[in-house]
Amino acid sequence: MRFETRAIRDGQAPDPKTGAVVVPVYQTSTFQQDGIGRNRGFEYTRSGNPTRKALEEALASLESGRHGLAFASGSAAMAAVLHTLRPGDHVVAGEDLYGGTIRMFERIYRPWGLDFSYAKVEDPADFAAKMRPATKLVWVESPTNPLLRIADLAAVAEAAHRGGAKLVVDNTFATPLFQRPLELGADIIVHSATKYLGGHSDVIGGAIVVRDDALFESLRFVQNGMGGVPAPWDCWLVLRGLRTLAVRMREHDRNARHLAQVLEKHPRIARVHHPALASHPQRALAARQMEGFGGTFSVEFAGDFASIERFLSRLKVFLLAESLGGVESLICYPPRMSHGALTPEERHARGIRETLLRISVGIENVKDLEEDLLGALSE
Ligand SMILES: *Cc1c(COP(=O)(O)O)cnc(C)c1O
Repeated sequence: MRFETRAIRDGQAPDPKTGAVVVPVYQTSTFQQDGIGRNRGFEYTRSGNPTRKALEEALASLESGRHGLAFASGSAAMAAVLHTLRPGDHVVAGEDLYGGTIRMFERIYRPWGLDFSYAKVEDPADFAAKMRPATKLVWVESPTNPLLRIADLAAVAEAAHRGGAKLVVDNTFATPLFQRPLELGADIIVHSATKYLGGHSDVIGGAIVVRDDALFESLRFVQNGMGGVPAPWDCWLVLRGLRTLAVRMREHDRNARHLAQVLEKHPRIARVHHPALASHPQRALAARQMEGFGGTFSVEFAGDFASIERFLSRLKVFLLAESLGGVESLICYPPRMSHGALTPEERHARGIRETLLRISVGIENVKDLEEDLLGALSE
Protein backbone atom coordinates (compact mmCIF):
# COMPACT_ATOMS: atom_id res chain seq x y z
CA MET A 1 0.00 0.00 0.00
CA ARG A 2 0.98 3.60 -0.50
CA PHE A 3 2.05 6.18 2.08
CA GLU A 4 -1.30 7.85 2.81
CA THR A 5 -3.02 4.48 3.26
CA ARG A 6 -0.27 3.05 5.44
CA ALA A 7 -0.41 6.17 7.63
CA ILE A 8 -4.03 5.35 8.39
CA ARG A 9 -3.89 1.56 8.53
CA ASP A 10 -0.46 0.23 9.49
CA GLY A 11 -0.23 -0.81 13.13
CA GLN A 12 -3.86 0.23 13.50
CA ALA A 13 -6.02 -2.85 12.97
CA PRO A 14 -9.49 -2.47 14.51
CA ASP A 15 -9.59 -3.46 18.19
CA PRO A 16 -10.15 -7.26 18.23
CA LYS A 17 -12.36 -7.08 21.31
CA THR A 18 -14.80 -4.33 20.31
CA GLY A 19 -14.17 -3.50 16.66
CA ALA A 20 -13.22 0.09 17.55
CA VAL A 21 -11.64 1.51 14.38
CA VAL A 22 -9.33 3.77 16.36
CA VAL A 23 -6.60 2.22 18.51
CA PRO A 24 -7.67 2.65 22.15
CA VAL A 25 -5.56 4.46 24.73
CA TYR A 26 -4.34 1.60 26.91
CA GLN A 27 -3.89 3.79 29.97
CA THR A 28 -2.44 1.07 32.16
CA SER A 29 0.93 0.63 33.79
CA THR A 30 0.81 -3.16 33.99
CA PHE A 31 -0.84 -6.25 32.48
CA GLN A 32 -2.27 -9.35 34.12
CA GLN A 33 -0.09 -12.39 33.51
CA ASP A 34 -1.65 -15.78 32.78
CA GLY A 35 1.02 -17.53 34.80
CA ILE A 36 4.62 -16.93 35.72
CA GLY A 37 6.45 -16.16 32.46
CA ARG A 38 3.20 -16.29 30.47
CA ASN A 39 1.68 -13.03 29.17
CA ARG A 40 -0.31 -11.80 26.16
CA GLY A 41 2.54 -9.75 24.69
CA PHE A 42 2.70 -7.04 27.34
CA GLU A 43 3.97 -7.02 30.92
CA TYR A 44 4.66 -3.48 32.04
CA THR A 45 4.18 -0.24 30.11
CA ARG A 46 7.82 0.89 30.28
CA SER A 47 8.69 -2.28 28.32
CA GLY A 48 5.72 -2.10 25.97
CA ASN A 49 2.15 -0.87 25.64
CA PRO A 50 -0.41 -1.62 22.89
CA THR A 51 -1.02 2.06 22.04
CA ARG A 52 2.73 2.64 21.79
CA LYS A 53 3.13 -0.51 19.72
CA ALA A 54 0.56 0.78 17.21
CA LEU A 55 2.49 4.04 16.90
CA GLU A 56 5.83 2.24 16.59
CA GLU A 57 4.54 0.01 13.80
CA ALA A 58 3.08 2.97 11.90
CA LEU A 59 6.36 4.91 12.24
CA ALA A 60 8.42 1.97 10.99
CA SER A 61 6.14 1.58 7.99
CA LEU A 62 6.19 5.26 7.00
CA GLU A 63 9.99 5.52 7.28
CA SER A 64 10.51 2.33 5.21
CA GLY A 65 12.02 0.72 8.28
CA ARG A 66 11.43 -2.57 10.07
CA HIS A 67 11.37 -1.39 13.66
CA GLY A 68 10.03 1.74 15.35
CA LEU A 69 10.57 2.96 18.90
CA ALA A 70 8.60 5.80 20.46
CA PHE A 71 10.08 8.07 23.11
CA ALA A 72 8.93 10.75 25.54
CA SER A 73 10.63 13.44 23.41
CA GLY A 74 12.95 13.84 20.46
CA SER A 75 15.68 14.51 22.99
CA ALA A 76 15.01 11.18 24.76
CA ALA A 77 15.21 9.40 21.37
CA MET A 78 18.55 11.07 20.60
CA ALA A 79 19.87 10.21 24.07
CA ALA A 80 18.93 6.56 23.55
CA VAL A 81 20.99 6.45 20.36
CA LEU A 82 23.99 8.03 22.12
CA HIS A 83 23.61 5.59 25.01
CA THR A 84 24.43 2.69 22.71
CA LEU A 85 27.98 4.18 22.59
CA ARG A 86 30.74 3.85 25.18
CA PRO A 87 33.15 6.44 26.60
CA GLY A 88 35.97 6.87 24.09
CA ASP A 89 33.68 6.56 21.07
CA HIS A 90 33.61 9.35 18.52
CA VAL A 91 30.77 10.96 16.53
CA VAL A 92 31.06 13.07 13.38
CA ALA A 93 28.10 15.45 13.15
CA GLY A 94 26.97 17.97 10.58
CA GLU A 95 27.72 21.40 12.01
CA ASP A 96 24.22 22.86 11.61
CA LEU A 97 21.93 21.15 14.15
CA TYR A 98 19.05 21.86 16.49
CA GLY A 99 20.45 23.83 19.46
CA GLY A 100 19.39 21.20 21.99
CA THR A 101 21.27 18.53 20.01
CA ILE A 102 24.51 20.50 20.18
CA ARG A 103 23.90 21.13 23.89
CA MET A 104 23.38 17.38 24.45
CA PHE A 105 26.56 16.52 22.53
CA GLU A 106 28.77 19.17 24.10
CA ARG A 107 27.49 19.57 27.67
CA ILE A 108 26.15 16.10 28.49
CA TYR A 109 27.89 13.46 26.37
CA ARG A 110 31.31 15.09 25.95
CA PRO A 111 31.85 15.30 29.74
CA TRP A 112 30.52 11.70 29.89
CA GLY A 113 33.30 10.54 27.56
CA LEU A 114 32.13 10.77 23.95
CA ASP A 115 34.03 12.88 21.46
CA PHE A 116 32.42 14.94 18.70
CA SER A 117 33.74 16.52 15.49
CA TYR A 118 31.73 18.68 13.13
CA ALA A 119 31.72 18.53 9.35
CA LYS A 120 30.40 20.89 6.70
CA VAL A 121 26.86 19.68 6.03
CA GLU A 122 27.21 20.28 2.27
CA ASP A 123 30.48 18.39 1.89
CA PRO A 124 30.51 14.56 2.12
CA ALA A 125 34.32 14.62 1.75
CA ASP A 126 34.55 16.65 4.96
CA PHE A 127 32.61 13.90 6.80
CA ALA A 128 35.03 11.33 5.37
CA ALA A 129 38.01 13.45 6.44
CA LYS A 130 36.74 13.73 10.03
CA MET A 131 36.33 9.95 10.50
CA ARG A 132 38.65 8.19 12.97
CA PRO A 133 39.06 4.56 14.02
CA ALA A 134 36.89 5.33 17.10
CA THR A 135 34.06 6.87 15.02
CA LYS A 136 30.85 4.93 15.66
CA LEU A 137 28.21 7.35 14.37
CA VAL A 138 27.80 10.02 11.75
CA TRP A 139 24.91 12.33 12.65
CA VAL A 140 23.12 14.77 10.33
CA GLU A 141 20.00 16.81 9.99
CA SER A 142 18.86 17.49 6.46
CA PRO A 143 17.39 20.02 5.94
CA THR A 144 19.16 21.49 8.94
CA ASN A 145 17.66 23.53 11.74
CA PRO A 146 17.75 26.53 11.33
CA LEU A 147 19.65 27.21 8.07
CA LEU A 148 17.98 24.62 5.79
CA ARG A 149 21.26 23.23 4.53
CA ILE A 150 21.10 19.92 2.70
CA ALA A 151 23.37 16.91 3.22
CA ASP A 152 23.83 14.44 0.36
CA LEU A 153 22.50 11.53 2.42
CA ALA A 154 23.62 8.74 0.07
CA ALA A 155 27.16 10.16 -0.10
CA VAL A 156 27.36 10.75 3.67
CA ALA A 157 26.06 7.21 4.30
CA GLU A 158 28.80 5.85 2.09
CA ALA A 159 31.46 7.87 3.94
CA ALA A 160 30.10 6.62 7.28
CA HIS A 161 30.01 2.99 6.18
CA ARG A 162 33.48 3.11 4.68
CA GLY A 163 34.72 4.22 8.11
CA GLY A 164 32.79 1.48 9.90
CA ALA A 165 30.21 3.90 11.37
CA LYS A 166 26.43 4.10 11.21
CA LEU A 167 24.55 7.08 9.80
CA VAL A 168 21.92 8.75 12.00
CA VAL A 169 19.55 11.16 10.24
CA ASP A 170 17.32 13.53 12.18
CA ASN A 171 14.35 13.57 9.79
CA THR A 172 12.23 15.98 11.83
CA PHE A 173 12.09 18.77 9.23
CA ALA A 174 11.35 16.69 6.13
CA THR A 175 9.15 13.94 7.64
CA PRO A 176 8.92 10.54 5.92
CA LEU A 177 6.40 11.93 3.42
CA PHE A 178 9.13 14.01 1.79
CA GLN A 179 12.33 12.13 2.60
CA ARG A 180 13.06 8.52 3.60
CA PRO A 181 16.74 8.37 4.62
CA LEU A 182 16.75 4.59 5.20
CA GLU A 183 16.15 4.20 1.46
CA LEU A 184 19.24 6.37 0.83
CA GLY A 185 21.53 4.29 3.05
CA ALA A 186 21.00 5.74 6.55
CA ASP A 187 20.92 3.29 9.47
CA ILE A 188 19.01 5.16 12.18
CA ILE A 189 16.24 7.77 11.87
CA VAL A 190 15.47 10.02 14.81
CA HIS A 191 12.49 12.36 15.08
CA SER A 192 11.11 14.99 17.30
CA ALA A 193 7.49 13.80 17.00
CA THR A 194 6.62 17.05 18.78
CA LYS A 195 6.90 18.73 15.39
CA TYR A 196 5.24 17.56 12.14
CA LEU A 197 4.46 13.96 13.15
CA GLY A 198 2.25 15.09 16.05
CA GLY A 199 1.50 18.20 14.03
CA HIS A 200 -0.80 20.07 16.40
CA SER A 201 1.54 21.53 19.04
CA ASP A 202 -0.19 19.51 21.73
CA VAL A 203 2.30 16.77 22.58
CA ILE A 204 6.02 16.23 23.19
CA GLY A 205 7.29 13.02 21.61
CA GLY A 206 10.19 11.36 19.86
CA ALA A 207 10.93 8.36 17.68
CA ILE A 208 13.63 6.12 16.29
CA VAL A 209 13.26 3.91 13.21
CA VAL A 210 15.80 1.29 12.04
CA ARG A 211 15.96 -1.74 9.75
CA ASP A 212 18.66 -3.82 11.42
CA ASP A 213 17.41 -6.36 14.00
CA ALA A 214 20.50 -6.26 16.25
CA LEU A 215 20.55 -2.47 16.25
CA PHE A 216 16.87 -2.46 17.17
CA GLU A 217 17.48 -4.85 20.07
CA SER A 218 20.26 -2.67 21.47
CA LEU A 219 18.11 0.47 21.18
CA ARG A 220 15.11 -1.26 22.72
CA PHE A 221 17.31 -2.40 25.58
CA VAL A 222 18.26 1.24 26.22
CA GLN A 223 14.65 2.41 25.82
CA ASN A 224 13.45 -0.05 28.45
CA GLY A 225 16.48 0.25 30.71
CA MET A 226 16.70 4.04 30.71
CA GLY A 227 12.93 4.53 30.68
CA GLY A 228 12.43 7.57 28.43
CA VAL A 229 9.11 6.19 27.17
CA PRO A 230 6.00 8.18 26.17
CA ALA A 231 2.67 7.90 27.98
CA PRO A 232 -0.04 5.90 26.15
CA TRP A 233 -2.13 9.04 25.71
CA ASP A 234 0.82 10.87 24.12
CA CYS A 235 1.35 7.92 21.76
CA TRP A 236 -2.30 8.16 20.79
CA LEU A 237 -1.94 11.88 19.99
CA VAL A 238 1.13 11.29 17.79
CA LEU A 239 -0.64 8.40 16.06
CA ARG A 240 -3.63 10.63 15.36
CA GLY A 241 -1.21 13.19 13.92
CA LEU A 242 0.33 10.59 11.62
CA ARG A 243 -3.05 9.79 10.10
CA THR A 244 -3.21 13.29 8.55
CA LEU A 245 0.53 13.78 8.00
CA ALA A 246 0.35 13.67 4.20
CA VAL A 247 -2.42 16.24 3.78
CA ARG A 248 -0.90 18.56 6.35
CA MET A 249 2.61 18.34 4.88
CA ARG A 250 1.46 19.18 1.36
CA GLU A 251 -0.30 22.28 2.66
CA HIS A 252 2.67 23.31 4.86
CA ASP A 253 4.92 22.87 1.84
CA ARG A 254 2.72 24.89 -0.51
CA ASN A 255 2.21 27.76 1.94
CA ALA A 256 5.91 27.91 2.84
CA ARG A 257 7.07 27.97 -0.80
CA HIS A 258 4.71 30.82 -1.54
CA LEU A 259 5.79 32.88 1.48
CA ALA A 260 9.48 32.20 0.82
CA GLN A 261 9.07 33.62 -2.69
CA VAL A 262 7.18 36.65 -1.42
CA LEU A 263 9.74 37.38 1.29
CA GLU A 264 12.68 36.94 -1.07
CA LYS A 265 11.45 39.96 -3.06
CA HIS A 266 10.96 42.15 0.02
CA PRO A 267 13.54 44.91 0.59
CA ARG A 268 13.54 44.36 4.37
CA ILE A 269 14.52 40.71 3.99
CA ALA A 270 18.20 40.29 3.12
CA ARG A 271 18.12 36.57 2.42
CA VAL A 272 15.75 33.59 2.47
CA HIS A 273 17.00 30.09 3.26
CA HIS A 274 14.56 27.70 1.55
CA PRO A 275 15.61 24.69 -0.55
CA ALA A 276 12.91 25.27 -3.19
CA LEU A 277 14.26 28.69 -4.15
CA ALA A 278 16.57 29.08 -7.15
CA SER A 279 18.88 31.02 -4.81
CA HIS A 280 19.46 27.95 -2.58
CA PRO A 281 22.91 26.54 -3.42
CA GLN A 282 21.74 22.93 -3.05
CA ARG A 283 18.40 23.16 -4.75
CA ALA A 284 19.21 20.39 -7.24
CA LEU A 285 20.35 17.98 -4.51
CA ALA A 286 17.27 18.77 -2.43
CA ALA A 287 15.01 18.12 -5.42
CA ARG A 288 16.79 14.81 -6.05
CA GLN A 289 16.59 13.33 -2.56
CA MET A 290 13.33 14.90 -1.34
CA GLU A 291 9.78 14.99 -2.64
CA GLY A 292 8.88 18.23 -0.89
CA PHE A 293 10.36 20.49 1.76
CA GLY A 294 7.83 21.00 4.53
CA GLY A 295 6.84 24.24 6.14
CA THR A 296 9.90 25.57 7.92
CA PHE A 297 12.46 28.00 6.56
CA SER A 298 14.49 30.93 7.78
CA VAL A 299 15.23 34.48 6.73
CA GLU A 300 17.90 37.10 7.41
CA PHE A 301 16.29 40.34 8.42
CA ALA A 302 17.71 43.57 6.95
CA GLY A 303 17.70 45.65 10.13
CA ASP A 304 18.84 45.81 13.73
CA PHE A 305 17.47 44.00 16.79
CA ALA A 306 15.01 46.80 17.57
CA SER A 307 13.50 46.53 14.08
CA ILE A 308 13.21 42.74 14.46
CA GLU A 309 11.37 43.25 17.76
CA ARG A 310 9.10 45.81 16.11
CA PHE A 311 8.33 43.41 13.25
CA LEU A 312 7.54 40.57 15.67
CA SER A 313 5.30 42.76 17.82
CA ARG A 314 3.21 43.73 14.80
CA LEU A 315 2.39 40.18 13.71
CA LYS A 316 -1.17 39.08 14.40
CA VAL A 317 -1.47 35.59 12.88
CA PHE A 318 2.12 34.37 13.37
CA LEU A 319 2.83 33.65 17.02
CA LEU A 320 6.24 34.23 18.58
CA ALA A 321 7.01 30.79 20.00
CA GLU A 322 9.53 27.97 20.13
CA SER A 323 8.83 24.79 18.15
CA LEU A 324 7.63 24.18 14.61
CA GLY A 325 5.54 21.78 12.60
CA GLY A 326 2.12 22.54 14.06
CA VAL A 327 -0.95 23.60 12.12
CA GLU A 328 -0.54 27.16 13.41
CA SER A 329 2.16 29.48 12.07
CA LEU A 330 4.97 30.26 14.47
CA ILE A 331 8.00 32.48 14.24
CA CYS A 332 11.11 32.15 16.35
CA TYR A 333 14.31 34.10 16.93
CA PRO A 334 16.93 31.30 17.00
CA PRO A 335 19.76 33.28 18.68
CA ARG A 336 17.66 33.64 21.85
CA MET A 337 15.18 30.77 21.42
CA SER A 338 15.77 27.44 19.61
CA HIS A 339 19.55 28.02 19.58
CA GLY A 340 19.79 30.04 22.79
CA ALA A 341 21.54 27.08 24.43
CA LEU A 342 24.62 27.80 22.29
CA THR A 343 27.31 30.27 23.21
CA PRO A 344 27.65 33.30 20.89
CA GLU A 345 30.88 31.71 19.59
CA GLU A 346 29.10 28.41 18.80
CA ARG A 347 26.35 30.30 16.97
CA HIS A 348 28.86 32.41 15.08
CA ALA A 349 30.85 29.33 14.00
CA ARG A 350 27.63 27.82 12.63
CA GLY A 351 26.57 30.90 10.70
CA ILE A 352 23.57 31.71 12.92
CA ARG A 353 23.48 35.49 12.73
CA GLU A 354 21.76 37.93 15.08
CA THR A 355 19.39 38.82 12.21
CA LEU A 356 18.03 35.29 11.69
CA LEU A 357 14.34 34.45 12.03
CA ARG A 358 12.92 30.94 11.67
CA ILE A 359 9.41 30.65 10.31
CA SER A 360 7.18 27.59 10.78
CA VAL A 361 4.41 28.06 8.26
CA GLY A 362 1.10 26.56 9.32
CA ILE A 363 -1.90 25.52 7.29
CA GLU A 364 -3.99 28.65 7.74
CA ASN A 365 -5.11 30.45 4.57
CA VAL A 366 -1.90 31.56 2.88
CA LYS A 367 -3.33 34.99 2.00
CA ASP A 368 -3.85 35.72 5.70
CA LEU A 369 -0.27 34.66 6.36
CA GLU A 370 1.08 36.79 3.53
CA GLU A 371 -0.89 39.84 4.62
CA ASP A 372 0.30 39.38 8.20
CA LEU A 373 3.99 39.26 7.20
CA LEU A 374 3.77 42.12 4.70
CA GLY A 375 1.75 44.26 7.11
CA ALA A 376 4.32 43.77 9.91
CA LEU A 377 7.19 44.51 7.49
CA SER A 378 5.70 47.76 6.18
CA GLU A 379 6.72 50.94 7.97
C1 LIG B 1 12.75 20.01 18.37
C2 LIG B 1 13.82 19.22 17.74
C3 LIG B 1 14.49 18.21 18.46
C4 LIG B 1 14.22 17.92 19.91
O1 LIG B 1 12.98 17.33 20.10
P1 LIG B 1 12.10 17.47 21.45
O2 LIG B 1 10.86 16.74 21.12
O3 LIG B 1 11.89 18.95 21.67
O4 LIG B 1 12.90 16.87 22.55
C5 LIG B 1 15.45 17.48 17.78
N1 LIG B 1 15.76 17.72 16.48
C6 LIG B 1 15.14 18.68 15.78
C7 LIG B 1 15.52 18.91 14.35
C8 LIG B 1 14.16 19.47 16.38
O5 LIG B 1 13.57 20.45 15.67
